[in-house]
Amino acid sequence: MNPSLSFWSVECPEGEPDLFVCLTCFDEVFRAKVPVEGCPGCGAIGAFEPFNIAAIKDWGTEDLIRKAEQQPLPPDSVPSANSNSVG
Ligand SMILES: [Zn+2]
Repeated sequence: MNPSLSFWSVECPEGEPDLFVCLTCFDEVFRAKVPVEGCPGCGAIGAFEPFNIAAIKDWGTEDLIRKAEQQPLPPDSVPSANSNSVG
């Protein structure tokens, strides 16, 4: 993980694919955002296309599928009863 990576956030309407996969290396995926400086894996710029998790599971590598499943949900879709996290 590179903490200095910055991202464009992408608005994804509900029900639309929100997992952006690099179509050059098929090894990087981000939810509802794309890296500003291109793919951190292969350097390709503008190579990200949105897919849903079902599509990724259909043709993705195990590694890509795992990364897709690990992507955090967008903040506004996470049900949170309170904003305080228990330390
Ligand atoms: Zn790539």
